[in-house]
Formats: sequence, C-alpha cells, structure tokens
Amino acid sequence: MCDALHARGMKVMVLTHRQSAINMELPEYKRFELWTIKDRLGRPRTEVWWKTTIEALMTHNMGHFEATGPVWTRVCPYCDAWWEGFRDELKTLIDMGLDGAQLDTIGTEGNLCYATNHGHKPGTGPMPKLAERLAWLREEIRAHKPEFVLCGEEFGDWLFQYLDLPYSRHRADDAQVFRYTFPETKENVAVSAYSYDQVNKSLMLGMGMDIEVWGLKKSVLACPELADYIKQVVEIRRAFPDYLMNGRFMDTLKASVDGAVRYAVHEGPQGLAVVLWNNSNAPQDCRVAFTEGRLEQGTLCKPGEAMEWSGCHAT
Ligand SMILES: [Zn+2]
Repeated sequence: MCDALHARGMKVMVLTHRQSAINMELPEYKRFELWTIKDRLGRPRTEVWWKTTIEALMTHNMGHFEATGPVWTRVCPYCDAWWEGFRDELKTLIDMGLDGAQLDTIGTEGNLCYATNHGHKPGTGPMPKLAERLAWLREEIRAHKPEFVLCGEEFGDWLFQYLDLPYSRHRADDAQVFRYTFPETKENVAVSAYSYDQVNKSLMLGMGMDIEVWGLKKSVLACPELADYIKQVVEIRRAFPDYLMNGRFMDTLKASVDGAVRYAVHEGPQGLAVVLWNNSNAPQDCRVAFTEGRLEQGTLCKPGEAMEWSGCHAT
C-alpha cells in the first residue's frame, strides 16, 4: 500500500494510540494487564471511544456501554516493554514504507496511577516518565529513519520537544485567530463528506486537510466530486506556496473586503495574497481593497478555472 501511494506522490501516516492504550480483548492484554493504569480501587482505568462503533457512540452520548465495541485501558508509561514494543512496531512499518505516525490522544495523558507495583509511588502523575519515554522513542526512531514524522493529537506546547507537529481534526470556527497568534503551529482542517466549506477554510487559513469522508471507514474516493474539488484547491495552493503554504498569515490585516464573504491575508516575498471564502449558499458580490498601497499586478484564481493575470487592478 505504501508503494502504491508513494507512486501517486502521497505520504503515508498512521494514526495510532499504541503509545497509550491497549484493547482488553487482544491476546497481548494478559501480558500488559499488570501495567495498566489503576484507579484508587486497583481496577484498570477503562475507556471507550465512540468512533470505534455506532454502539460505542451510545456510550459516549448516554454514559453507558451497551454493545460490542472494544474497551481500552491506558498503559502506565513506567512499563518499558510496552514502549520497546511500540518502537519495534514502528520500525517494522518504516521498513514497509511508512512516512509518519500520529500519536492519537497524546494530549489527554496524565491520569494518576494508583498501582503499587509499577515502580512509582501510588497516586503519582506519570508525565515526567512519559516525557522520558517520548525522548527515548524520538531518538530511536530518528536513528532508524531521520525524516520520519512523529505527530500528536491536540497537544500542549511541552510536547513540541518530542513531536514534530499537532495533527488534529478541527471543525471549530476559532481557527483564524489561532492561526494568526500561533503561526508556528501547523494544524489541519477536518474535511467530511461534502464539506466544501471546510476545504475552503483550509485554503483561507493555509492549513492542511484531514479528510474523513465517511466516518473513519471509507476513502475520499467514496465522494469523487469532492476529491476533484480538493484537487482544484490544492492546485491553487501549490502554485503559490510562498504565500498560501509558507507565507506569513496576517488574519485580516493589510486588506479590507466589502461584501458578505470571509477572507484572510497571507504575506509572501513579493506582496500579499487575499483568500476570499463565500461561506453562504448564494453568490455574493464583494470588493477587495489593500490598505497599504495600490494593487499593481495580481493573479486571480478560482477553483477549477484558469488563473487570470491582471496587469493593473482586479476587483
Ligand atoms: Zn503506574
């Protein structure tokens, strides 16, 4: 699979919570049961993620478990064998062509562990040990494949020491301010089935796209017309990478827009790019003005249409 995707110019990354949790139904569970994070009564601390099955969604929404989704438990970072196994699995996948991994749920680590036989004081927070283990993992993986990307879900700034970037699903609408105030943070916009607005938002914010067309089960090819649209948007971005991918995100500074559309400004080596997003269901008239100097020349791009070069002014 990696070879087939590489041939199409794609990189392959797996999303995993192998660093954190084990499915209690797996045969390996017996081996690690001793090492699961324990609550104050000495029981393994369990979790169910709604995305696993529809039934598990009921657990998430209704607070009780009523079907067959797997139950997971977190493994205490004090278990060395757990981390060595993770490293070995990653190395095997790297040898098969894997380019990166995202450590899912890494941002929610830190549950107190009350086990009396893990080599730590009962009731200790495991974060220092987790940091030590991540530093070790990073070193081991870098020695095996220096360019391998290690990402994490929704993490706080301390994790930038060990992971390359937060790779998350963002459907929230507060991303524009975040993108301006924390430009060093590379985030993604979640794109679901027919969510054309999310594709547009990713272009406006200069963020990548995390595409999940139908729950977590199907490929983007289940929705080919959306895939075509994504390609058209990506073509615009790739034509101007110094502005729309690696430029300085200016929020709405240095340009003003008259009209019922959203917009954002990106600064590049030779000027500005303004991205307009009509997030309504009807066509909108709008007019862009640059607040510092006049537009002398520019290029107008629309998804699926030829780029127009303009020598004087564009509206
Ligand atoms: Zn423990």
